[in-house]
Amino acid sequence: MDGSGTSDGGDGGGSLRPMDAEQLRECGHRMVDFIADYYKSMETFPVLSQVQPGYLKELLPDSAPNRPDTLDALFDDIREKIIPGVTHWQSPSYFAYYPSNSSTAGFLGEMLSAAFNIVGFSWITSPAATELEVIVLDWFAKMLKLPSQFLSDAPGGGVIQGTASEAVLVVLLAARDRTLKKHGKKSLEKLVVYASDQTHSALQKACQVAGIFPENFRVVKADCSKNYAVAPEAVSEAISVDLSSGLIPFFICATVGTTSSSAVDPLPELGNIAQGHDMWFHIDAAYAGSACMCPEYRHHLDGVEKADSFNMNAHKWFLTNFDCSLLWVKDRSYLVEALSTNPEFLKNKASQANSVVDFKDWQIPLGRRFRSLKLWMVLRLYGVENLQSYIRKHIQLAEHFEQLVLSDSRFEVKEEMNQLIYI
Ligand code: PLP
Repeated sequence: MDGSGTSDGGDGGGSLRPMDAEQLRECGHRMVDFIADYYKSMETFPVLSQVQPGYLKELLPDSAPNRPDTLDALFDDIREKIIPGVTHWQSPSYFAYYPSNSSTAGFLGEMLSAAFNIVGFSWITSPAATELEVIVLDWFAKMLKLPSQFLSDAPGGGVIQGTASEAVLVVLLAARDRTLKKHGKKSLEKLVVYASDQTHSALQKACQVAGIFPENFRVVKADCSKNYAVAPEAVSEAISVDLSSGLIPFFICATVGTTSSSAVDPLPELGNIAQGHDMWFHIDAAYAGSACMCPEYRHHLDGVEKADSFNMNAHKWFLTNFDCSLLWVKDRSYLVEALSTNPEFLKNKASQANSVVDFKDWQIPLGRRFRSLKLWMVLRLYGVENLQSYIRKHIQLAEHFEQLVLSDSRFEVKEEMNQLIYI
């Protein structure tokens, strides 16, 4: 393939030059034009794809082409066969699930990350990737006014995971191993996890993967009179019952901004309960955490100082292209102990403290992308003040929407439930 549309590999002899700089320049310019046109015309597409399951099998051949195709032929297929099957998450008319905003800065960061295409599992595989991640996560922690223990020069630190689901899994593993170390490996069947019925299903999945016995996953009913936040008394009561049955409560997950109703669980009270029982306290602020960089919304994080881990997705409401999930822990040694495969390193606490960060030991996969680039570019090319204004504007739009609903007799807003009822 080359930019001019020939199908012979670009030199007439059929030889493959996968990363020829001039071909890349030409094809890249064409792709950027294509993407810019897509963004310009996005509103003309139906937001939700209208195709039926299996539609693409009807349109594409059964096997891969033996000879190179042209970029023109590919663009035709993208227009005619792929775009009809795309649901347009970046459309201004997209209101499903949760926001997942892209931006020019995030997009450029993704491009550059694709260009370097590093596999940065350890410091030496690309020092800039590890070090930029550490710096940007420290910047972000300061923007959110996270406690100083979450910073990289403390026992804690931040790391970019792919998703909030991966984030809760790794901290659950860290918490599990910390507890088993204390109570003995045979206690796995006694470990109990607590969360509200508004908690994202990512926690249940993490429990399944981490070997937590399904009957030990406590789903505490949220309080609808408190905008669907969980009542700390209900969590305390569940813990007392489990303790009296000889079980070991070890993990509480609170949410700041539940997916369905943006409920905020009472962090200080839940944190006290967790600390009182030597339990791990995780805060999932995947969707709404970004708002807390505005001083007027920061109070939603009060109590985070009692947490062992905190997570928010920059790929949701922070203009950073998917995927970019930010996780901070108060004591990184628990993560490393659960996830490192190097027993010598684990034995030697002193070498852990003095050596460079190898982020492979803070996550499930070995390989990892240079994700901090796009977050760094979002922060640098927009600046914190603009990012705060962007969040504020969205909240103003939500308030405006509420006013429209209130002024329409076909709807009522149930204040105490924060729910929209269609009459
Ligand atoms: N937690 C909350 C509060 C969410 O809103 C979501 C996504 O909707 C998740 C977790 C899961 O996010 P991810 O897709 O990053 O795993």
